[in-house]
Amino acid sequence: MSTEQPETLPVPPTRLRTPFFMEYPLGLFNGRFSREMRDNGRLMGMVCRHCGFSMLPPQAVCSVCHGENFEDPQWVEMGPEATVAGFMSFNMPFIDTNDLSVQSSAYPVGVLMVDSPGRNAGFLWHYIGETDLSKVHNGMRVRAVFRPEAERKGLMTDILYWEPVRDPATTQGD
Ligand SMILES: [Zn+2]
Repeated sequence: MSTEQPETLPVPPTRLRTPFFMEYPLGLFNGRFSREMRDNGRLMGMVCRHCGFSMLPPQAVCSVCHGENFEDPQWVEMGPEATVAGFMSFNMPFIDTNDLSVQSSAYPVGVLMVDSPGRNAGFLWHYIGETDLSKVHNGMRVRAVFRPEAERKGLMTDILYWEPVRDPATTQGD
């Protein structure tokens, strides 16, 4: 009987699945941002008290001037309307980072300049509620459509999409 080992041994495939769950605080500012969406169906951002920059979601430290906004932060309501600054369609499924589920969407996703009383718009990526891409264009106005209150979870998906706002200048007579 030979005791020689073959030079290569087959390695059986191994599959491991280790789910883990975490709970963590969103922080003072993002906590209020999420609660306002869930409970009041509105977008609350902050305007930097040093330079007037609009922050959506709100931030303690300004992205532009690096000024701190910990004390007496200037909360402002932003939206519910926005201007489309760019958009693209989804042609393949994608992973929802909230729960790692695979999602697909018939709606295009847009870069939205959300109305703000600050010196600039707040910026968000979100769905545009129009599946006919020939009707979507940069500069068009859209309005946030929130889920019914009982379905909201304090996530960006509390907004279903942003529906196009009819422009009175181009829809006269209909
Ligand atoms: Zn600033």
